[in-house]
Amino acid sequence: MSAATWAGRARARGVDSRPDDGDERVVDLDAAEDAAAAFLVALGVDVTTAGTLETPRRMAQAYAELLTPAGFDVTTFPNDDAYGELVLVREIPVRSVCEHHMLPFGGVAHVGYLPGTRIVGLSKLARLVAHAAARPQTQERLTRQVAERLAGALDTRGVGVVVVAEHSCMSLRGARATGATTRTSTLLGDLRTDRALRDEFLAAVAEPAPRR
Ligand code: ZN
Repeated sequence: MSAATWAGRARARGVDSRPDDGDERVVDLDAAEDAAAAFLVALGVDVTTAGTLETPRRMAQAYAELLTPAGFDVTTFPNDDAYGELVLVREIPVRSVCEHHMLPFGGVAHVGYLPGTRIVGLSKLARLVAHAAARPQTQERLTRQVAERLAGALDTRGVGVVVVAEHSCMSLRGARATGATTRTSTLLGDLRTDRALRDEFLAAVAEPAPRR
């Protein structure tokens, strides 16, 4: 079936606007390998050389890895010390795949929150980012999902997420805007509505990284 035919049928059915949440995905590596081989052959790539014979299998495995979230729980602890100031984890590496081109994008995420009665294990913030990233994404939706999932896991007073990333669909092809980065942010609760807290959060995100 040609892509045009496929897209036409999908449109006739009514395009599904729900984001792919990834958690219930069934991966058929053999089918993906066959499809990858057909895709490469259609593009005129020889997949019979010593170097490319295993390429369809590797492509299937690579995309399965990029698109399959690892399950985890957002572990929380009682905020026994009544810590009430901003908690911010900066420069969490993030890599995902843009849903428009299936090409990778990557950069860093800064994730912060204002604790209420519970705090979250810090490593879980990185897990939260990785989990939301392991599916076909837009950077805008990835940013919002991380913020909303963190807000949903805690009785937090506010959540802030900033993602800065470079998109290979923009840097390697098309506009070839190498080095151009995209910044997205989602602010919830007091971090959105309280001007001083919002400024504190954004300034902390922008601070130069400490020397190591
Ligand atoms: Zn793209």
